[in-house]
Amino acid sequence: MRRPMVAGNWKMNGTRASVAELIESLRLQTFPAGVEVAVFPSCLHVSQVLGGIDGERIAVGSQDCAVQNGFGALTGEVSADQFTEVGCEWVLVGHSERRLVLGETDEVVSRKFLAAQEGGLKPVLCLGETLDEREAGKTLEVVGRQLAQVLDDHGVSAFKSAVIAYEPVWAIGTGLTATPEQAQEVHAAIREQLSRQDRQIAEGVRLLYGGSVKADNAAELFAMTDIDGGLVGGASLKADEFGAICRAAGN
Ligand code: PEP
Repeated sequence: MRRPMVAGNWKMNGTRASVAELIESLRLQTFPAGVEVAVFPSCLHVSQVLGGIDGERIAVGSQDCAVQNGFGALTGEVSADQFTEVGCEWVLVGHSERRLVLGETDEVVSRKFLAAQEGGLKPVLCLGETLDEREAGKTLEVVGRQLAQVLDDHGVSAFKSAVIAYEPVWAIGTGLTATPEQAQEVHAAIREQLSRQDRQIAEGVRLLYGGSVKADNAAELFAMTDIDGGLVGGASLKADEFGAICRAAGN
């Protein structure tokens, strides 16, 4: 039985004051005991969030980490070791905004996946196709290629301690959501790809859906067999909405 997870990606949002408000409002939310909840604030606000929330209810992750682990000369980057040392448990790796805006390749994403695990963080590996790729009928090929890079580099065992998020690029921040059937088709293909290497590991890996998840569409997405929760962007900045999504994952 896979434990559902809801992860909130706060992206490049927040001031000290607004983050303090969000922490306060999250305190008032009821989260189902069976659901793992995590938030991913900006790097600047990670310590503030860690200091303000109850770590038993909500875990904290970073939105990215450096390609190499440890400490040393890599100006502007933050390593997995550094995030772990302050109390983070999770890290997003390969979010489409980083792939597309910052040019992160499959190889770079794979290096970050490894660096994350070496530094004690659990990666949430983000995969997803653009609208052009979907319209060209290449969704499964693109997502399969993104996953294969990490699988080939680090082996299926690396997924014992990782989560995968399928996030169609055309659904992120656009208000468009994949239908539950569209999402399920890709999730099933991801699990099948893992299963070809190790069935037991494949059955245990949590697959989150991301792309305009809201309180009013979460339940139907989470009802699908291979959707084990959500990676939530915009709606995670509103505590009531985020709480409702977490509760939907618990049903
Ligand atoms: C995301 O950025 O991971 C995301 C899913 O964003 P949104 O929910 O706003 O589409």
